[in-house]
Amino acid sequence: MARTSRTQWRALSRRAVVIRSLTACAAGVAAALAPVKEAAAKMAQKIAEYQDTPKGDQQCSNCSLFQEPNACTLVDGEISPAGWCKFWVKKTG
Ligand code: SF4
Repeated sequence: MARTSRTQWRALSRRAVVIRSLTACAAGVAAALAPVKEAAAKMAQKIAEYQDTPKGDQQCSNCSLFQEPNACTLVDGEISPAGWCKFWVKKTG
């Protein structure tokens, strides 16, 4: 009976090692793909209600999310410095 227990324990240990290894691999893959997922997670211009004209004194060139020369960290596609969307955030500094 003790022998059976030892055999079962070894089988459980092996299973635990395999499960932990697979979990570690999955975590590694997820971490490696995170930047790709982040880059692909930009919002569509339509959803952001983007327009290629300013709204009053608010425009992409004075928004903290604007990336020179024509991109945005939040909204997908080509962004005009004179554009605007509903997520405009005043650039500081
Ligand atoms: S207003 Fe700001 S958040 Fe909106 S598209 Fe222009 S830079 Fe991006």
